[in-house]
Amino acid sequence: MRKINCIGVLTSGGDAPGMNAAIRAVTRTALFNHMQVKGIYHGYHGLINDEVFEFRSENVSNIIQRGGTILKTARCPEFRDYEGRRRAYDMLRKEKIDALVVIGGNGTFSGAREFGDEFDFPIVGVPGTIDNDLYGTDSTIGYDTALNTIVRAVDQIKDTAESHERLFLIEVMGRDAGFLALNGALATGSEAAVIPEIATSEDLLEHLIQNGFRKRKKSSIVLVSESDATGGAQGVAKRLRENGYEPHVTILGHVQRGGTPTASDRVLACRTGVAAVDALLEGQRGCMIGIKDDQIVYVPFSEAIKGEKPLDHHLIDILRVLCI
Ligand code: ATP
Repeated sequence: MRKINCIGVLTSGGDAPGMNAAIRAVTRTALFNHMQVKGIYHGYHGLINDEVFEFRSENVSNIIQRGGTILKTARCPEFRDYEGRRRAYDMLRKEKIDALVVIGGNGTFSGAREFGDEFDFPIVGVPGTIDNDLYGTDSTIGYDTALNTIVRAVDQIKDTAESHERLFLIEVMGRDAGFLALNGALATGSEAAVIPEIATSEDLLEHLIQNGFRKRKKSSIVLVSESDATGGAQGVAKRLRENGYEPHVTILGHVQRGGTPTASDRVLACRTGVAAVDALLEGQRGCMIGIKDDQIVYVPFSEAIKGEKPLDHHLIDILRVLCI
């Protein structure tokens, strides 16, 4: 195993609250272990284009509580091609970076896997995405904060929904995963969640909504994942309007990405950030650092990204029981 003298760290894909806490953890753990640290700006784009700066401890002072990412993030189509990854490798050699920690989601880890395999380069991932769609870790950095943001927004919409006795469809993020919509619905006492994993028939949705109004509920709220599989809130609204309903649609959008990370996300970021550097020092590579049943686990990239993170179907039963 080659000695690691310098670690590079980057954030990539969608930003998530808690990424800064992870950057801080990676930086300080590497410095603690007498290694050099280099912050790479704008994800893989910055790696290809040499946006690389040496980090000292003070570069990550006072960021643990800040949303977004001080390293910025970007989508980088060039990294999908071999030629782009080759340029990234040349840049790593020029900067004398011996190992890489990438903080991001599915796409980030797909790129990391290809890159690590092609160039035999030590690279580990820290799960940072609000969608919570990475297999092998109970949660991802940013998910808890986004969920709490959704809960606050839905609580506020509920006030107006109650006053006007209206049906609201609220669209939340989660293109391929319903964790935000389902747990958001549970935490706000909503009528139902329309999520990509489970087809919800129009009949069932109408039944749930009707059931609510029949029980003299003053309002009805349904959370919908933004996804091709659900048609999003506008798609569900269109179908309900054809059946005589008058739903109001709110799309929460990017408000879900920002804000101060919760304590839970900060702790997750600290633990996985420290473990990422420890893993590299142990000779681990090609894996995501997860936490399963409160234990640090190394999940091969190929497993983390396979998109089969199971959603607890029992939660849907609970939702139906609690909204009667
Ligand atoms: P989020 O889940 O929050 O959107 P993400 O990490 O999945 O985060 P993506 O935009 O999908 O975000 O991916 C980030 C970057 O990873 C892409 O811009 C691209 O540079 C790289 N990437 C994604 N998929 C691949 C792939 N199959 N091969 C190589 N690189 C990839």
